[in-house]
Amino acid sequence: MIALSTQTRWGNILLGKEYHGLYLWLPLLLSLLLPACSKQLEVYEQRLYVFGTLVDITIRGVSEEKARQITALIDTDFQRMHHDWHAWEPGPLVDINTAISKGESIQVIPSLLPIIQRSTELYGDSDGLFNPAIGGLLSLWGFQRNEPPNGPPPDKNDIKQWLVQAPAMDEITVKEGVLHSSNPGVQLDFGAFAKGYAVDIAIETLKKHGVQHAIVNAGGDLRAFGQSEGRPWRVGVRHPQGKGVLASIEINGDESVFTSGNYERYREHEGVRYPHILDPRSGIPVQDVTSVTVIHSNGADADAAATALVVAGPSEWHRIAKKMGIKYAMLVDGEGTVYMNPAMQKRVQFQEKPSANLVLSERL
Ligand code: ADP
Ligand code: MG
Repeated sequence: MIALSTQTRWGNILLGKEYHGLYLWLPLLLSLLLPACSKQLEVYEQRLYVFGTLVDITIRGVSEEKARQITALIDTDFQRMHHDWHAWEPGPLVDINTAISKGESIQVIPSLLPIIQRSTELYGDSDGLFNPAIGGLLSLWGFQRNEPPNGPPPDKNDIKQWLVQAPAMDEITVKEGVLHSSNPGVQLDFGAFAKGYAVDIAIETLKKHGVQHAIVNAGGDLRAFGQSEGRPWRVGVRHPQGKGVLASIEINGDESVFTSGNYERYREHEGVRYPHILDPRSGIPVQDVTSVTVIHSNGADADAAATALVVAGPSEWHRIAKKMGIKYAMLVDGEGTVYMNPAMQKRVQFQEKPSANLVLSERL
């Protein structure tokens, strides 16, 4: 059983308070108001586990039974994705990678086709900074495992060899569902993108079943739509040093907020940290960017963009964001300097006023 906890809250209506003059009228008023209010106020929360992350689903405005049924469907989808998209546990993606390394063609299961297609487009839009073909490099650095790696970084010659092969998404062709790569070094790993893609599929399922207000939150990366008690959802932005919440953002309609950070997964050796986001141009981890937060219409593109902008760093984030069609972005560098575009500044409310420098960019 994957569900770790289920909590249901119903109608947070204040009862038991004294409404002096209205006291006598209260039963009548309540009987008139309750049906409408409780429908609006009921909240269903369910926690699922997928891709090594806890996913919290919050639904407003439908019955508990319906919410339970929909989250069960989402859970089933999540577990299937986890199996189909896993880069190192036996399954369809590992089979694809094995075939590519042998120079063979392979039939792709239908659920993987749109992921390969969209991530290839995002690879191009990001000038190759988001590159899900870097599975071989991730493996060299020890990031294709459940536990964080330790020990010294990989041999420089191995990295050099990988750079000579320079595996890229545009070296893949898919014809009638059959995939082939001209480069045997291409090894697919959707770690930077799968969470966003899965969140989008969950949102689609919620909407398809008539839900109008919900949040799907995968460990601080989320997509929300609708409202909470007649007001926009207000969501937290993860703190770059993993210290709770850095800021909050109000959701307009249907939006995703994704943060990529170099603080959660890293290799540590002799006091030096080698984080899990790698620069495909140099073959080494990005060390001078702490986090990037992106607001965007869908989760998949937000997830890919957040990773790409970490690689782009302070000098290139604006150009790459523009190329990827991102309208709101914020980057925090290793010194704590915050870079963002003016539209992002208008939407971000910091918990505490940041003591570090703020560098406002041109409009995106
Ligand atoms: P988080 O898991 O913190 O949300 P990301 O969305 O940035 O972070 O995903 C990081 C993962 O993406 C890494 O663990 C690795 O699997 C993969 N990855 C690392 N660097 C790149 C890159 N340049 N392009 C595509 N995927 C990457
Ligand atoms: Mg990402």
